[in-house]
Amino acid sequence: MKDKIIIVTGGNKGIGKAISHEFAELGAKVKVFARTIPNDLNEFVDGKTDLLSNIEFFAVDVSDFDSVAESVNKIVKSEGKIDVLVNNAGVTKDNLLMRMSPEDWDFVMDINLKGAFNCSKAVIRTMMGQRYGRIINIGSIVGTIGNPGQINYSASKAGLVGLTKSMAKELASRNILVNLIAPGYVETNMTDALNDEQKAKLVENIPLRRVANPSEIADVVVFFAHDDSKYITGQVLHVDGGLAI
Ligand code: NDP
Repeated sequence: MKDKIIIVTGGNKGIGKAISHEFAELGAKVKVFARTIPNDLNEFVDGKTDLLSNIEFFAVDVSDFDSVAESVNKIVKSEGKIDVLVNNAGVTKDNLLMRMSPEDWDFVMDINLKGAFNCSKAVIRTMMGQRYGRIINIGSIVGTIGNPGQINYSASKAGLVGLTKSMAKELASRNILVNLIAPGYVETNMTDALNDEQKAKLVENIPLRRVANPSEIADVVVFFAHDDSKYITGQVLHVDGGLAI
């Protein structure tokens, strides 16, 4: 991974932060795209300050193509290449269909699905030119099995599956591989919102009987960015402790 240029959207917290840390630890140059830049960078790297020389932040709203393109262009100008894009930024705005507003539908689709389209579109010209690239999308188990109260979120994640497979077919001839990781439940802000009873019920249904640590998702992202996975494209890999079986 040494000196690979890696864009991680939503790389400032949760799963994205774990992904940024793992790549930076492996010597990659990580470019974090998020709307907010952490105030305390030492806290962001959990005191491992040597990682900071490998991590750069860009204030980007992935739902806005111009905002994405501007930062991608800056990176191409300064680094001359982009090796890996991780489309990880994601949000929820849960409600039952009966109560869901069109605005809540658009908000989630614009970030989770259009955001991945915007970032992929912004990087592929460079990747096609260099005849090399990896795009790794972060979906969700609910994109496969659905979830009441999350029609917008699950539709956005199911949409990412179609995006992944179509991009994989379009871009394979240029040696750009596109895969999707579908996490189950991961310990982050998103799952902190659940109460203890909800968490216990959730764990009951997971064959491995525990939720994932963000680093267990990051490990698989690194695998898809690594040379060891160079004959894999268009795949959806559930990293969910067996929940989707
Ligand atoms: P968090 O809520 O902890 O982090 C979400 C990240 O997305 C933040 O870094 C946030 O940064 C960024 N983000 C949100 N909106 C935008 C935007 N418009 N432009 C740029 N960045 C944005 O989520 P998780 O770490 O839990 O989730 C990461 C991914 O994993 C998501 O795609 C999620 O759907 C998926 N996932 C998570 C699961 C879980 O159990 N946690 C399970 C399955 C999938 P900022 O607000 O600063 O912009």
